[in-house]
Parts: sequence; structure tokens; C-alpha cells
Amino acid sequence: MEILEKKDKKDIDQIINHFAENEEDIEIIKQVKKVYPVKYTSFLAELFLKSEAIRKQFLPSPLELKTNGTPTPFEEGKKASKTYGLERLYRDRVLITPHFDCPAYCRFCYKKSRVMRNKPSMTFEEINAVVSEVSKMKEVRGALITGGEPFLDQDKLFYLLDKLIELNNIKEIRIGTRTLLTMPEIYTEDLCFKLSTYNQINSSDPEKSKYLAINVHFNHPDELVPEVIQACNKLTSRGIILRNQTVLLKGINDNIATMSRLFQLLIRNNIIPYYMNHCMPVEGSDHLRTSVQKGLDIYKFLCTESSTAIPHYVYAPSGGKVHVGPDTKFEYVHDKHIRYIKVKTLYKAEEFKKIAKKELPPMHEVTEDGYIQGLYIDGKDE
Ligand code: SF4
Repeated sequence: MEILEKKDKKDIDQIINHFAENEEDIEIIKQVKKVYPVKYTSFLAELFLKSEAIRKQFLPSPLELKTNGTPTPFEEGKKASKTYGLERLYRDRVLITPHFDCPAYCRFCYKKSRVMRNKPSMTFEEINAVVSEVSKMKEVRGALITGGEPFLDQDKLFYLLDKLIELNNIKEIRIGTRTLLTMPEIYTEDLCFKLSTYNQINSSDPEKSKYLAINVHFNHPDELVPEVIQACNKLTSRGIILRNQTVLLKGINDNIATMSRLFQLLIRNNIIPYYMNHCMPVEGSDHLRTSVQKGLDIYKFLCTESSTAIPHYVYAPSGGKVHVGPDTKFEYVHDKHIRYIKVKTLYKAEEFKKIAKKELPPMHEVTEDGYIQGLYIDGKDE
């Protein structure tokens, strides 16, 4: 499953060395693999043969060792919870990570310090502890089950779902996954039916309704092949909402034609364009990061099309995500060769400290009126 089953070692090396232009690059890629491991599924390997856009997302580049990024942009803003697998950054929702590994490694993964580092899954006891803690968080109404890849350990996933759905305060459950692309074959009729049972609409008392939705992750129209659409359709035809999170990636989807086509295809196939995320400044991904402004130029065009196909455009300093609108102007700060965007977020510093139970992340401070102001490493377009 994890790697090309039908092909021999020579083929695998050839695929992995796809971006090598010479012997020196091959040596650099060997080093890259030691720092940021490579993993992909049999299904993806077939897609590599057909799509440059997909290859670039999963195969290592010699450029990964040149980086301004930080190792943990994702974790910096969150509490290193005493309860393993539980994090909280926002007032109304928590993040739960039952399984930290993925079946394939995206080169731009902003959680690569955990996904690629063999962090152990939660135990059943740890899931019990998380559920007990969440039950006491009265302001929390949503749980995002994220990864790694929650579908890699379905016993734990369904154990967790069964517990969460019983909590009075939890009304909204979301699962974040890229398996619709990496392993669409796992979406059997049984699995999709089982997931649909967590959608519990209470028409006589809508306050008591609960739902389960899935956050999917597609970045390029090439990913929407028949097997993938069939798997998505098995879920949506059972009433499970799919919301897509796209990452803006240099040389892959950073142009109007690709993004516009992607969002149109998604909506046509019953998948809601939800977020267009600027690629986070995680180490090893500089070569895939555009400027935030470039994403805004694309976004402005999208705003002239039907609103059904417009996602939210966001970038995410460690202190919390920032929404970009068509009229947004950026304030820049330059330090040595790095350009930062300075931004005042929507989040109050005191509330952040109380919820996350920690001080503000690096490169963040409090404004005079109490809000979090942060610096975000911008990408480059040249
Ligand atoms: S699927 Fe998500 S968590 Fe897994 S490697 Fe890709 S970006 Fe990271």
C-alpha cells in the first residue's frame, strides 16, 4: 500500500529522482530523503505517470534543503496539550489527532515535524482522556479529527466518533483527510454508510441536530480522476458534506486558469470549495511558496465568478488564520533576506492565552488594544 507494489526498486528510485537533473541532484535528493522522508501509495504512483502537478506534490526536490521556513509553524500556535492528541486554539472547537502518520507525504506538509517523524498513534486510553476533557469544555461545540491520516486506523477513528457523538456539547464533527486522493479504494459502501450514521438531523428540535462532514484536500484538476470522484460520490450521495481545502502551490496551481477550473470541477461534483490556503512557511517548502499577494491576484479574479465556486483565501501565522479579501493591503517588514507580512489578527491575546494555555508564539506580540499581532514569512514569486 505504502509504496509501488508492482514495480521494482529501480523504478522506485527513478520516480523518486524525477527532479534530479544530474548526479549532484541525485546525491542531494538522498540527503533530502533523510531529512524529509518520501512516501506515496500505489494509486498515486499511477497518477505520477500522468500528471506533473501531482508528481511535484509528493516527490522530493533538491531545493528542499534551501529553506527559510520553520520546523513547526503548525504547532507553535497550539497548546502542547498534556492530553496527547488534543489541541485547542479557538474558542469553539478542538483538534484531535488519533493517528499521526500519513499513507503519502505531501512535500509542503505544514505538520511534517509530526507526520514524518513516526509519532505514535493515540491509545484507546488517551482517546478516553481526550473525550473526558472535551466534555468539560462547555464553549466547544465542534471537533476536527485531523492527522496525519485518521482513516489509517479506523478502529480508533470509530471508537472516537462513537464517544464524541454522545457528548452534549459536541454538535459538529469534521474529519480532515487526503485519502480521497491517496487511497480512494478504502471508500467502500460499508465505510461510507457507517460514516453517514453520524449525521443526525433532529427535525423536531434542530438545536439537537449533529452532523459529520469531511474536509478533503484537492489542489489540482488532475487529481479529480474517475476513481476519486466515485469515492467522493459515495459519500455525498449519502448526505455527507465534502468541503475542500486547497493549498496554493508555486508551479502547480498558482494561476487563474488552474484554480478556476479546480473550483468549478469541485462544485460540479458536489464538493464545496472551502479554503484556498497560502502554503505555510514550513521548512523545506520554500520552492513551493508564492507570495500571499500572488494568491490575492488569483482570488480577485475568482471573486468575479459565481460565488458558489469561491473559497475563503487565508494565510496562517501561528497565532491564528487570517482571511484575505479582495481589498486587502499588506504591510511588509524586511529583515535580512526575508520579507514578512505584519498583521493584526482577529484574536484577543488574553483569550488566546486562556484557551491555548500558553504564551504567544514566536514573532507575535500584543497590540495596545489587546489583539494578537504577528509576523508571517511571505513566499517569493521569482
Ligand atoms: S495529507 Fe495532510 S497531514 Fe498528510 S502529509 Fe499531506 S498535508 Fe500532511
